[in-house]
Amino acid sequence: MDEAIGFDLTEQRVKFKTGAELEYDYLIVATGSTHSYFGRDDWAKLAPGLKTVEDATEIRRRVLLAFELAERQMQELGSHPPLNFVIIGGGPTGVELAGAISDIAKLYMTKDFRHIDPKMAQVLILEGSPHVLAAYPEDLQASALEQLTKLGIKVRTNAHVSDVQPGYVMVGDERIDAVVTLWAAGVQASPLGKLLGFPTDRRGCVLVDQHLNPPGHPEIFICGDLAHVEQDGKQVPGVAQPAMQMGAYAAKRIARLVAADFGSDGSGINAPFRYFDKGDMATIGRKAAVANIKWPFKGRWSGFPAWFVWLVVHVFFLIGFRNRLAVFSQWAWTYVTFNDGVRLITGSQDLPGWSDQPGAKPLDLGSPNA
Ligand SMILES: Cc1cc2nc3c(=O)[nH]c(=O)nc-3n(C[C@H](O)[C@H](O)[C@H](O)COP(=O)(O)OP(=O)(O)OC[C@H]3O[C@@H](n4cnc5c(N)ncnc54)[C@H](O)[C@@H]3O)c2cc1C
Repeated sequence: MDEAIGFDLTEQRVKFKTGAELEYDYLIVATGSTHSYFGRDDWAKLAPGLKTVEDATEIRRRVLLAFELAERQMQELGSHPPLNFVIIGGGPTGVELAGAISDIAKLYMTKDFRHIDPKMAQVLILEGSPHVLAAYPEDLQASALEQLTKLGIKVRTNAHVSDVQPGYVMVGDERIDAVVTLWAAGVQASPLGKLLGFPTDRRGCVLVDQHLNPPGHPEIFICGDLAHVEQDGKQVPGVAQPAMQMGAYAAKRIARLVAADFGSDGSGINAPFRYFDKGDMATIGRKAAVANIKWPFKGRWSGFPAWFVWLVVHVFFLIGFRNRLAVFSQWAWTYVTFNDGVRLITGSQDLPGWSDQPGAKPLDLGSPNA
C-alpha cells in the first residue's frame, strides 16, 4: 500500500512516495479521476465534491450541521437563514446528491427538530448545459427533470457559475445564497496519467490504442477513468462498467502475453478491447430514477421500476455476500421505516459560509463535543 509518484519507463520501474521502487514486466495504471474546478482550486474548500469516503463524510457533516445551526439559531433568536443547498452540476452525481439531500430534509428528519421545519429546505441544481443528465436520451432527461421537480428540487439549466464564495455562488451578476454548496460539475484524470509522459486529452486521460496500451508500450495498460479509449468514433465513458471490463481485459491479455512467451499458441492475443455497454442508470431519490437499459433486454424506464432496478444492480455488484445482505437490509429498513439510521456529525462544528448568510448570527457552540 503506497502512493505511486512517478515512473521510469526505460528501466520499467514505479516510484513510490515512501521512497520504495518496484520493477515490473507489465504495468496497469488505473488511478481513476478526481474533481476538476476548471482552474479555480480555491473553490474546493467552499464547494466539496463527492469522490472519496472522506468527501462523503464531509458532505454529510455540512448538510447535517446546517440543520443543527438553523435549529440552534431559531431557538436562540427566533429566526434562521434560509436553508438553501446549492449543487453545481446536473450530471448523475449532482442529481443523486440533490435527491439525497431532499429526501433527508423532507422524509427522514421531519421529527428531529422542535424549532425548525426541515421540509422548508430548498435544493437547487445549477447546470451549465441546457439539460440535466446530458449524456442520457432526451426522454429520460425530461423524466429526470419532472421527477426532480416533483421532489421539490429546483433546477436551473444554462446556468454558468462564475464564482463560489462563502455563503453564496454567483451566476453571472446574480448572487444565489447557499448554506451549503456542493460541486458535481467536472472531473479530471488522476495527475499520475500526465506523469507517464504520453499524450493525454484535455481532461488528462491517457490516449490509448485498442489494446489499452499507450503508444509504443505494449507492456503498459491504462484502464478505467484514466484511459481515453475511442470506440465507434466515441469516447468510452468514465463509469464503472468500462473500468471493470478494461481491468478484466488487461489481466487476460497480460496472461496471454506471458503464456505466449512460454510457447502457447497465443490464440486471441490480438483481440482488441471492446466495451460492452449494458446501459446507464441514475437514481434521483426515493422511488425516483431513470434507466436506459441495453442488456439483457432493451428498455427506458423512469420512476419506481428504474429505481428498483438501480437498487438491485447496485446491491448485486457489491463485493461479498455479507455486504450485499447488510446493504440490502439497511435499504429495506430505511424504505419501510423512513429512518435512515446514522446521522453522525464528525469533526469540526464550523460550517464555511454560515455567518455570510443573510440573517445568520455567529453562534457560540462551546466545546467541539457540545
Ligand atoms: C459519487 C460517485 C458516484 C458514481 N456512481 C456511479 C454509478 O452509479 N455507476 C457507474 O457506472 N459509475 C459511477 N461512478 C463512476 C465510477 O465510480 C468510476 O467510473 C470508476 O470507479 C472508475 O474506476 P477506476 O478503477 O478507473 O478508478 P477508481 O475506482 O477511482 O480507483 C482508482 C484507485 O486508485 C487509487 N489511486 C489514485 N492515485 C493513486 C496513486 N498515485 N498511487 C496509488 N493509488 C492511487 C485511488 O485511491 C483509487 O483507489 C461514480 C463515481 C462517483 C464519484
